Amino acid sequence: MSMLPADIVLDRKIDMLIEGGHPLPRWGWPEPAPYNGATGTERVRVWQKNHLAWRVGLMPERSVCSVCEKRDAEQWHGELYFRPFALMPICRSCHARVHRRFRSPARWGEFLLTIKADNWVQTLLPEQLSRDTAIKLSNEPDWLGALSAFAAARQADQ
Ligand SMILES: [Zn+2]
Repeated sequence: MSMLPADIVLDRKIDMLIEGGHPLPRWGWPEPAPYNGATGTERVRVWQKNHLAWRVGLMPERSVCSVCEKRDAEQWHGELYFRPFALMPICRSCHARVHRRFRSPARWGEFLLTIKADNWVQTLLPEQLSRDTAIKLSNEPDWLGALSAFAAARQADQ
């Protein structure tokens, strides 16, 4: 018997709440830009599911930022929007940097020098994933391991 990853179990619980008529929280901001192959609409839907999980007390505890390992993790970072609860706890400052990395790869490189060599964020690519790749990685039980392996292979090609 294989065990489902905890984030997938949580996603199914939230799907059941929604199917049971639980209203989705309202997104009150402009539609976000696409990210790693997911459209703005898909990103909003993930935010709504995450927020609903938080409202009903099912979101995991956040403590320290998983990137700098110093500041409080006030937010969650989603790298693969086709896996709604595959999230990393992150502080506001590191979160902004993660999303700005495509715009200024040089600054991103400088930032990475301040982060531990084995940190998950070191494996993020400085370019967006295609939709097909993001979906494929989302379907791997160990999504972060799969993402790291993909990124390492991609960087070796260049
Ligand atoms: Zn941080």
